[in-house]
Order: sequence, then C-alpha cells, then structure tokens
Amino acid sequence: MENILDQNLEELQNWMEKNSEKKFRAKQVFDWVYDGIYDFDSMGNLPQGLKSKLASYFYIDIPEIVEAYKSEIDGTVKLLNRFRDGNIIESVIMKYKYGNTICISSQVGCRMGCKFCASTLNGIVRNLSAGEIISEIIAGGAYISERISNVVIMGSGEPLDNYNNIIKFLELVNLEHGLNIGQRHITLSTCGLVPKIYDLANKKLQITLAISLHSSNDEERRKIMPIANKYSIVDIMEACKYYIDMTGRRITFEYALIHGENDAKEDAYELVGILRGMLCHVNLIPMNEVKESKLKKSTNQNVKTFRDILDSSGIEVTIRRELGADINAACGQLRKSYLESHD
Ligand code: SF4
Repeated sequence: MENILDQNLEELQNWMEKNSEKKFRAKQVFDWVYDGIYDFDSMGNLPQGLKSKLASYFYIDIPEIVEAYKSEIDGTVKLLNRFRDGNIIESVIMKYKYGNTICISSQVGCRMGCKFCASTLNGIVRNLSAGEIISEIIAGGAYISERISNVVIMGSGEPLDNYNNIIKFLELVNLEHGLNIGQRHITLSTCGLVPKIYDLANKKLQITLAISLHSSNDEERRKIMPIANKYSIVDIMEACKYYIDMTGRRITFEYALIHGENDAKEDAYELVGILRGMLCHVNLIPMNEVKESKLKKSTNQNVKTFRDILDSSGIEVTIRRELGADINAACGQLRKSYLESHD
C-alpha cells in the first residue's frame, strides 16, 4: 500500500491508465483529497470499481493532531502530528497580516546534532515522505479552518538530508489541483549541506534558501554545529553565491544569538566581513532556551547592538519577532516532552 499523497498528478494519471481507468479521474481524486475527503468511498463522482481499486492500493495518511497549543498573545498554534506508524512531529502555524505561515518538519528527529536544538537530542528516527510533509500543511489548514499561504521548512529535521523527498514535496505543494502554494511562498532552511545546496541551485527554483549560520567563524561554529567540521563558512558562502547566480534569489542567513557565544560586537563585525556585497538578508533570532542545554539567550541590549552593527554596514537585517512566547516550547521540545510523558 502507498500513501496517495506521495503521488504527483502524472504518477496518478499513469496509475489510472495502468489500471484501465480514465486519466481524468486522477484530477477528481486530487480534488477530493485536497478538499478534505480522506476516504475513497465518499468520493461521489468516482465509479464503485475505481473506489475499490484505489482503496486496495492506496491509503491517505493525514496525521492526527494529538496535542495543540494556542498562544493567547498572538494566536500562534503549535501542533503535535501523529502519523499512522505512530511517529510524532511538530508543526507551528503563525498568523501574519499577509496570511498564515506554517513551519513544518522534514524528518522525525534529526542527525545534525546542533547544540541549541531539542529535535536532535535522540538522533534521527526516519525521513518523512513528500506526501507526509504535504499532509502537515493539510492537517494544519484543517485545524485552523483557514488557508495556509506560506511554508517554512524549518521544523525538526535537516531538509537537504532528505533531499529527494523534499524536491518532490516542492513539486507537490505547487500543484494547481493540490495546495497550489507558489515557490516564492516557500522557505527552506538548511544547516549548510554544501553539495546539496549546489544540487538545489541547479534546479533553479524560486524558493527562498535560508542558511542556519549562527556563527561568523568556523572555530565557534564547530562548537555549536557539528556540520561545521565538514563544511567551512567559506564553502557555504561559495555555494550560496552559486545559488544566487542560478536563481537570482536573495539568501537569508539565520543567526540565533547565544549569550557569550556568538553575540559580541566582534562577531557582528566578522559577519559583516563575510556577507558584505552579497544579495542577502540576516534574520537575528533571540534563541529559544532548551533545558537540556547550558546555552543562554542574548540580552536585549546585545541583540540591538548586533543588529545596529549590521544595519550601519549596509547589511539588511531584522530581528525575528518572538511568537508564541506563552506556549513556550523551542523547536523539538514539544515532541520530546510528549514522548517522555507517554513512555
Ligand atoms: S537545528 Fe535543524 S539541522 Fe540542527 S539539529 Fe535542529 S533540526 Fe537538525
């Protein structure tokens, strides 16, 4: 059995033909699924024979929302999604003036080992399939009963470590008969898997690439991000320039400010030296503290000084608004506490 959400239109059309059905049935099935009908029997305009064939070949895996938290302050919603094999992942829906943005996971757990991140504490369990990643958006939209117009792939997992499924997801999310979310409304965040950045650049997509940089020199970066032992900041910058050349898209650099680790004035000046002249934007993130880690959040003053140094050097910079502060849970933290309490 296969998850029907893993199919693109062409694949489902081919399946129809192979099973002596008309190709146009594929679009009808997609319309039903993306309209929230998750059992083949209820798809009114399909012949009974096709319904039975579909049910014997495919399942529709929309994760069950096992827990949900809503911020009283800003309406941010954090969801724990459970797939049919019992695995749990997190998604977060944020409300902005221009629409709803969902932050989704790409893997169950993560193997990258970043020191500030709760998602990686127990390593990786498995990749999510393209259809499972899509279904996080479907389940999130159904939960809030509103359209989701923007997607950031920034939850648990390293998306470029699940490259083929992510590429297929980027195709599926765009489908007119599906979620119909355009590439420019999608941001993919990576800790810097350099060879995969080149592969992605060669696809010439219009998505926004975000790099979790978090440090302005390799020595410091290695202390918080093990991937820095493999790829240097120079390697990453070269890959980013290639990405810009191929796509014309501005790169976002994510920089979580950690007290006493990477938030000094010298760090800001060093960052300016690396990024000057590049088509980019820096997103400063007041770090979410993870209780298992000794790392602490920067002071407001340090965050402001850091921002001002970048700004006055001509680097575009914003400080990420803290959303959902009252449902206080860093990325990966909710899943972890849920798993611990259900052991
Ligand atoms: S920050 Fe991202 S890449 Fe690093 S461990 Fe967490 S989920 Fe993985």
